[in-house]
Amino acid sequence: MSDNSSSSLRTPIVAVLGHVDHGKTSLLDKIRGSAVSEGEAGAITQHIGATAVPLETVSEMAGDLVKVEDFDLPGLLFIDTPGHHSFSTLRSRGGALADIAILVVDVNDGFQPQTEEAIDILRRTGTPFVVAANKADTTPGWNPNPDSPIKPSYDGQSDNARKRLDENLYRIIGELSDAGFSADLYWRVQNFQRNIGVIPVSALTGEGVPDLLAVLMGLSQRFMKEEMEIDVGGPGKGTVLEVKEERGFGSTLDVVVYDGIIREGDTIVVGGKDEPIVTEIRALLQPRPNAEIRVEKRFDRVEEVGAAAGVKIAAPDLDDAIAGAPVRVVRDQPLADVIEAVESELAEIEVETEDNGVVVKADTLGSLEAMANALKEAEVPILRAEVGDIAPRDVAVAGTANQPEEKVILGFNVDVLSNAERELENSDVRLFNDDVIYQLIEEYEGFVEELKRAQQ
Ligand code: GDP
Repeated sequence: MSDNSSSSLRTPIVAVLGHVDHGKTSLLDKIRGSAVSEGEAGAITQHIGATAVPLETVSEMAGDLVKVEDFDLPGLLFIDTPGHHSFSTLRSRGGALADIAILVVDVNDGFQPQTEEAIDILRRTGTPFVVAANKADTTPGWNPNPDSPIKPSYDGQSDNARKRLDENLYRIIGELSDAGFSADLYWRVQNFQRNIGVIPVSALTGEGVPDLLAVLMGLSQRFMKEEMEIDVGGPGKGTVLEVKEERGFGSTLDVVVYDGIIREGDTIVVGGKDEPIVTEIRALLQPRPNAEIRVEKRFDRVEEVGAAAGVKIAAPDLDDAIAGAPVRVVRDQPLADVIEAVESELAEIEVETEDNGVVVKADTLGSLEAMANALKEAEVPILRAEVGDIAPRDVAVAGTANQPEEKVILGFNVDVLSNAERELENSDVRLFNDDVIYQLIEEYEGFVEELKRAQQ
């Protein structure tokens, strides 16, 4: 921390993860929607890629469960894009994107492949999380008592409904235990860092949302306060959520700033495909309220943003920036040191490759890391692993393999560039492309089995 700055507490950053259709988007919408309807003007602030809910609004939503005077953290910042995209940028050390996660599990469905994937990443990154056992309203006869948010009231429910909800909640607790986590119904949990709290919620009716917010605030305040201490005036640090083409701006970065301050005109270092990018911020942009009408006026320019916040950075030379990579402002420190810091942060998530193996492409560094780990577990060697869409070069590299099971490209959440499609048609390289890691590996293993059978 530099001498001329002071420390302060920032907003904890919350990501929402879980299997497709388990209700991630609905839950975020519900939280945003009830914040707007419960709160006074300024109930929430819409950032690029995130929504800030101030403590006062959280308290209004959670009633007695969150009393303003009990907290000195300023609220909660929710990453807007749920699912793979946000969780794959979760990071263990250095540039932590999300501080806490909500793992959404459909109470009737239990753990599904993407739940397992999310759990793997949460475990590896050591990210504290809570489980929102969603769709509690679908239990027939489930009749939550809105006046008793601290513990669902079973009054008025049929015994069958109660039994079924209980069974479903205990199944989730069992699945968490199989995954190596000690978990319990949240009203029995004392230490939410040691034990995962399972909170029955309904993203449809909002039941349980106050409890979820109270648990998130309590967990942050009691166990994560030190991690929220930031260098208020110091050089900004952030993580790239997305690299996006914007008309009039070229390639831009959607960034979550978790420390310090970022200003227009600052020199920044950003993790890039081949090497760190050094550039100067031309504009910092925030969403303009109700901006659908005139596309070119979607953004408001701001002079600076302080952590924690989401912001769009417009700057030259951002084409090769990668999602999940660190962004650092150069101030007080020599440029070379900042470049080195960015490089070493990136090196932490570099994937082990071998002389032979498959080619892996993924949409973000985090998802590439998750893919690499899953492949390691399945004992599939990797020749090359990169962030980005599938390009002709990837087909050429895969084509050099000697073994048919290695003439393979595994793509996670990526597109195939049209010239690469042509190359693929004219080669014996097989492409597997999916947005569920588990399925992708199953497809690949099926293919290897088939090859083996054909050889016999
Ligand atoms: P995501 O893919 O995880 O983002 O899931 P969505 O939020 O898109 O929800 C998937 C489906 O489940 C939608 O049809 C939602 O309306 C429905 N859904 C989500 N949450 C709830 C809930 O709490 N109760 C009920 N009954 N349906 C829900």
